[in-house]
Amino acid sequence: MARAAVPGRLTWRKAVLREARQETPTARTLVLDVEDWPGHLPGQHVDLRLTAEDGYTAQRSYSIASATGLEITVQRLDDGEVSPYLTDVWEVGQPIELRGPIGGWFVWRPTDPAPVQLMAGGSGVVPLMAMIRSRAEHGVKTPFRLLYSVRTPQDVIYADELRRRARDDRGLDVQFVYTRVRGSRVGVADVNTHAWPADFQPNVFVCGPTGFVETVADIMVALGHDARGVKTERYG
Ligand SMILES: Cc1cc2nc3c(=O)[nH]c(=O)nc-3n(C[C@H](O)[C@H](O)[C@H](O)COP(=O)(O)OP(=O)(O)OC[C@H]3O[C@@H](n4cnc5c(N)ncnc54)[C@H](O)[C@@H]3O)c2cc1C
Repeated sequence: MARAAVPGRLTWRKAVLREARQETPTARTLVLDVEDWPGHLPGQHVDLRLTAEDGYTAQRSYSIASATGLEITVQRLDDGEVSPYLTDVWEVGQPIELRGPIGGWFVWRPTDPAPVQLMAGGSGVVPLMAMIRSRAEHGVKTPFRLLYSVRTPQDVIYADELRRRARDDRGLDVQFVYTRVRGSRVGVADVNTHAWPADFQPNVFVCGPTGFVETVADIMVALGHDARGVKTERYG
């Protein structure tokens, strides 16, 4: 039987920037229109590909921030190749190549009743925000805790939305650790104070720069969490 020519998740497709929102001085949320977007699970990501006039291409991965529709949030790295284009240059109406959704491991399913512990380092909050939004979208009461490590209060992505959701929803706890303000990184004491204890057997999602992810995952395991329940995503 002939197979229908359905664009698969690993096919490059055209995405158009519909809308952009500044989240912090250096992070921008991009709302994308993709024809026949198949939907996604919170935690998944997409790949974006830029092609220069001389044919040179650059490709990067970005977590999906939204529960429905397709939004990503990009943190500008001043010496980066791709992120400054996405945060400062890309204009509404312009196209880009995209493929996805990608990833089947670092995902949260709203049907899973286990409590959830989210651990974000910097822009690693993006896929965890998709999980928080998805939880609300599905109207489930799964207890969620987010520990968000970020340099200063001005660097908090989704600050207003996180505060509003935590205020209005007793099942969601949000704690910030401002590493530049207090002069130290997330450590055992933070995890002990704010994260679910291992006895609760939470699903743990850790996302951010590699150093953050490795440190926090090691702490979780040292505190008795089952390594198989600690899912990690490294941003490099
Ligand atoms: C699965 C996945 C999901 C991701 N999701 C997001 C997301 O939601 N939002 C987001 O902003 N980024 C995300 N990233 C990171 C993103 O793919 C790029 O690496 C990032 O935008 C930098 O690209 P660049 O071309 O600007 O910098 P590059 O030109 O690649 O690198 C510039 C310099 O910055 C360093 N660098 C590269 N990446 C990082 C980093 N993440 N943190 C600190 N230093 C870095 C490099 O070593 C280099 O010195 C994700 C990465 C992965 C693998």
